[in-house]
Amino acid sequence: MSYIAPIARLVEQFRRLPGIGPKSAARLAYHVLKMDTSQVTALAQTIVEAKKRVGYCSICFDLTDTDPCQICRSEGRDRSVVCVVEDPKDVTAMERTREFKGLYHVLHGSLSPLEGIGPDEIKIKELLDRVGQGVQEVIMATNPNVEGEATAMYIAKLLKPLGVKVTRIAHGLPVGGDLEYADEVTLSKALENRREM
Ligand code: ZN
Repeated sequence: MSYIAPIARLVEQFRRLPGIGPKSAARLAYHVLKMDTSQVTALAQTIVEAKKRVGYCSICFDLTDTDPCQICRSEGRDRSVVCVVEDPKDVTAMERTREFKGLYHVLHGSLSPLEGIGPDEIKIKELLDRVGQGVQEVIMATNPNVEGEATAMYIAKLLKPLGVKVTRIAHGLPVGGDLEYADEVTLSKALENRREM
């Protein structure tokens, strides 16, 4: 299918987004072209603005518009417990449970030798640096799939000699699933029933 150049470029941009195939990309492109100019401008500005204002917390590596982030700064949080997740979306999922009162650490991925993602590609060293600053328990809340399990085991091995308790959230989470899609009750239960690694 050949589009005129400006439309082709727009379709190409949408295709780069996750979960967007050629058909969805074309649908979005045509939708944008139907929108009012003011709406399109607002959309474009919002994207640029969000990208400009949001960065990573220098402590937990969650997305934030302040550094440190709101959670890391909060005096109401228990600094002795750190919950390790793969993705900023997982922090949002855990926060929705309202059960967890500790701090987080976002790895930004999981170990995956097949995709060439080793320990240096995710925020493991940064986690080890944090432990020792009064952290007594690290909860491994990586996804319940092969990569997530391997990552949890790898990190547990590194943490244990440092004298910190390492726990893994319970199953009951759909195996092979993503933490971000788990409902609040399942996630609360998984957290409550965590076991020592
Ligand atoms: Zn933070």
